[in-house]
Formats: sequence, structure tokens, C-alpha cells
Amino acid sequence: MDKEEKNTMGLTRREMLTASGLALGGLLIEKAIPGINEVSANDGCVCPSGPTCNWDDVPSSQKYTYFDSLDPFVPFDPKTKTTIVPLGENEMRITFMGSSIPPTLRHKQQMMSVFVEVGWDKNKEMPLDQFVFDCGSGVCTNYAAMNVGFGRMNKVFINHLHGDHMSDLTHIYCFGPSLDRQFPLYVWGPSASGVESPKGSGRYYDDGLKAFCKHLREVCRWHTESFSFQSTAYSDYVVPTRKSWGLPCDPVPVNDDAPNDGYALVPIELNWRKYGQDEGDNVAYNNPTTGVKISHFPVIHARQGSIGYKLEWRGLTMIYTSDTKPEYNSIIQASNNGKGVDVLIHEMIVPAQVWTMKIQHSNQLPDPNSPGVKWATMVQNSSHSPQGAFGFLLSQINPRPRLTVATHFPVADDTVACALKSVTDHCPDVKMGKDLIWSFDLMTIRVSKDKITPMRGVVSDFNFAPTGNLPTGTPQTPKYHDASGNGDPYAQICLDTAIPACGDNNTCNYREDGY
Ligand SMILES: [Zn+2]
Ligand SMILES: [Zn+2]
Repeated sequence: MDKEEKNTMGLTRREMLTASGLALGGLLIEKAIPGINEVSANDGCVCPSGPTCNWDDVPSSQKYTYFDSLDPFVPFDPKTKTTIVPLGENEMRITFMGSSIPPTLRHKQQMMSVFVEVGWDKNKEMPLDQFVFDCGSGVCTNYAAMNVGFGRMNKVFINHLHGDHMSDLTHIYCFGPSLDRQFPLYVWGPSASGVESPKGSGRYYDDGLKAFCKHLREVCRWHTESFSFQSTAYSDYVVPTRKSWGLPCDPVPVNDDAPNDGYALVPIELNWRKYGQDEGDNVAYNNPTTGVKISHFPVIHARQGSIGYKLEWRGLTMIYTSDTKPEYNSIIQASNNGKGVDVLIHEMIVPAQVWTMKIQHSNQLPDPNSPGVKWATMVQNSSHSPQGAFGFLLSQINPRPRLTVATHFPVADDTVACALKSVTDHCPDVKMGKDLIWSFDLMTIRVSKDKITPMRGVVSDFNFAPTGNLPTGTPQTPKYHDASGNGDPYAQICLDTAIPACGDNNTCNYREDGY
């Protein structure tokens, strides 16, 4: 990168690094990240000789041995068999509910989602606080299998509005009030991109989170009305405020929903350009009751507006960058002013040539100039961190995270072995399973001050639902109700052609109890 090249914030790299260093407590960034200013990637530089990956062993690509080797984590408390597994008082638990890359879909890995729980509230028998980061397609299935109900999925942090990071928001929103989330859905995400679309057209779309939520709410109108013969709210729900959750704005539902209703969709739009230049300008959530603070910073991915999140709680720090090209904010945030972080979750992709080969069901690397490789290279260069770049990025973080998790990556023994070679070219000392792992669906990482333990979620493929474990409130009268205030399931349908259980002259058509 040219030293004078301006970044998305209109700053040179040096200006940005200095600003971030100051924001992080006045230390010079050179101190926090030795060597960072000597970096000049792709400028006639000599790179590591590269991996010599072996793609002949086709069966190896059908399993991910590392995941299979992990200790099992059964997401139901072994004592009660029905409630969730308690966390330690100072434990953070991170679970991958989705971990792959689109556009193709993969049976064993859904699109992106990371669930983070902290601490334990003995009275409520619940984690102290819990968060959904991204919710791409297919991930709701994994949430249910891992015993996480909708009531625990009410705080959703979206990194960017690509489909593989937000598709399942529809399901979370629509079906929460039918189960145990009879209170609003709160969604954090970036403000409008500000990109002229395309350059010279004078057109700027309202492509930020707030507009997204307004439209999503109306798209789901038929659904929400149709289910509103059930109570969708507790009359005694305590509505959070800007102060009680430490938000950058008031939590106001879009459109006309009441602020305590399960169908209220509440956007917390974040100025994606902020990164802590002025102290606190990038805080998304800072809850004095649970002690969780979440801040954000811009990353580089496809179109302006993608953000990474940093979660801090009781001395533990986790970063989830989501999708990004290799860029400096992630290094600065992960170096954490010389303190480092406990867990860094950063995306990684296979080289464009390998990606194309895999899509083509081949084990022969295609011509680097073929259209498929050109397409994959374009996607890579605008949006993602190929495995070698990921290795370089990791080598620049000082101190290293206690655990780095490569995600958004289609794992199997062959892709992981090849990626590990690229990473260790830059960081020869990292050890797979020790300070570096690749995420996989249902991988749970238990994090405490003294140890970090990745585990393998073991689930039932046939459960009906997670176990509800929420304090119940006082149900409000449903929107569609009869004269006595009871929900009226017939209010929105016409029964003219319906077949009744009992026919004329009391003949039996079918049993009313369903048998
Ligand atoms: Zn994306
Ligand atoms: Zn993505």
C-alpha cells in the first residue's frame, strides 16, 4: 500500500495509526505494534515461497479431524437435562452457529453467526448477558440444536448487510414471539455507506441498518399480523433505555410497534466511520448492570460500511472482525494497546485458485487465467483475507491473541492443512489447536483467565425446540381478541369452506383432539 494512499476515512495510514494510538491512551502505535511501519506488501517484495498443498487425497476433504478430536459439549445441563449448561462466574462462552462462505452452501457449515455468552445469573439460571453476532442463512437450526432459544437471541450485532450475515434475521424476528421472546428484537449495525452508486450518478442509497429494519418490519407484516392472536408482549417488561444499556442512541422501534412488543424491531445504528478517535465515539453497548462493553471499528469489505466488533467483559476481550480484507484497524484493535486480546475471530479464505478448483469438484488446480479464478480473485481482492494475508496479519499483532480463530472458511483436512502452511510461513511458532484454530459449526470455546477450551457441540438432530428458561412476564391482551380479551385465532380467516370436526346431524368428520 502506498504510504500516502488515503484510506476509507480519508487518512493516511500513519495518521490513522497515530490517531488510534492516541485514542488508545496516548501511546505511540509503533510501540504497540513493532515493525508495522516497515510493511510494504506487494511492492516488489519477496514473499514466503508459499505452500505446496497436496490435493490428491480426495477423501481427506470429507472430514475435519481437528473438530472430531475435541471433547464433547452437550448443551443441556447434565443435572437437570433440560436447562442450559451454566457458565462459570467469570467465563465467556463463544459458539459458532455458522462458519462458512457464500455463494455456495455447505451441509456441514451454515453461513456466519457467532453466539457469545458471559457469566452466570444464579437466580435466573441464565447467562448474565448474551449476544448474536451476524445471523446468516441456516444458523437458526444450529441455535436451536445448541439449546439457545429466541429469548436469548434478542441482541443481534450485524457486521455488514450481506445476505450471509443477516438472512436468518427474518426467522429470528418472525418466530421469536411465538416462543419465548415476547419482547423486542434489538439489532445493531452500520449506518449508510455513503457510496455514490455508481460514481458520477449522483445517487446515494439509504443502505444503512435503520432503513434495512424499517423495510424488514414491513416485509414481515403479513406474518406478524397473522400470529397476533397470541399475546406478543409482557405488560411488565422493563424497556431498556439509552442509559441502562449504554447505547449511542435511544432504542426506538421502527414504524408503529409498541416499545415492549415482541414484533418491535429496534435498530441501533452505528456510525461505521468511528473507531475510538474521540473516546467513546465507537461504543455500541455499555451495560453497567452486566459489565459488557461492545465497541466497533471499520474494516474493508466490498462496499464502505463494514465493521468489526470488540467485546470486553471482566478483563476478557473478544474481537470478531467478520469479513474483511487485511487492514490495519484489526491489527490495532487486536494489539489492544499492548494488552492483547483473549480471542480474535477473523475471516480467512482459500486462495482463489483453490476456491475455484473446489467449486468445480476437481483436485486439479485450474489455469490461473481461467474465468473462474478471475472471478474468485476479484471477490478476494475487494473483500477477503486469503490465508497468506491472514498469516501476515497475525504476525503483526503484538502481543498475539491467546487464541486466534479463522472463520468464514470452508474447513476440511485438506483446506486447513494448506492454510496452516501459509500461516506458519509468516508465524512459524503458531500451533494448530493451541493458539490457532479454524471454526466449525457447533464449536464452543470456553474462555476464562486461566484457560481456553475449544469443544465439540454434540446435539440431537431431532429436537423440537430449545428448552425455554426465561422469567415469564404478564401476557398482554393479544391484538386479535374476542370480547373477553382472549386471543381469537379465527379473526383473520373466513370459515365458509372449512371442514368442521363435527358434520351435520352430529356425524364425526374427524376427532377434535387431533388424533
Ligand atoms: Zn460479506
Ligand atoms: Zn460473508
